[in-house]
Amino acid sequence: MTEGSTIFSQIIDGTTPADIVYDGGDTLFFRDIAPKAPVHIVAITKKAISSLQDMTEEDTVLLGKLMHDITTVADAQGLKEGGYRVITNVGNDAGQEVKHLHFHILGGEPLGPLRCQ
Ligand code: 5GP
Repeated sequence: MTEGSTIFSQIIDGTTPADIVYDGGDTLFFRDIAPKAPVHIVAITKKAISSLQDMTEEDTVLLGKLMHDITTVADAQGLKEGGYRVITNVGNDAGQEVKHLHFHILGGEPLGPLRCQ
């Protein structure tokens, strides 16, 4: 892996396999390798932004597109009626493992209250 690249870069370029559920052109959606809910999808921009805190004003349209794609994928995965949760971890205190901005889409059962552990 080159400096600054992550496992998600490898999923984007196809060198690491993933169960891809949707390719939005500038966005990509794939199943999390260690799911925390019956449906657990990782939503990313193909542009490598390290975290939400690293977005710039020029990324606002791209991230708006990502949010819209999330609703499309959630609907396609059958989550629209029951609802779902969207989370992004930013930095060490949040436990961000992969330094490529991503949103977790979680659903498929009642998730309970939002909690840290
Ligand atoms: P974070 O903790 O950074 O918010 O979330 C990173 C997520 O990426 C974790 O839920 C982890 O299971 C997932 N992940 C890490 N490596 C891979 C991989 O190679 N393939 C897939 N599909 N998911 C991965």
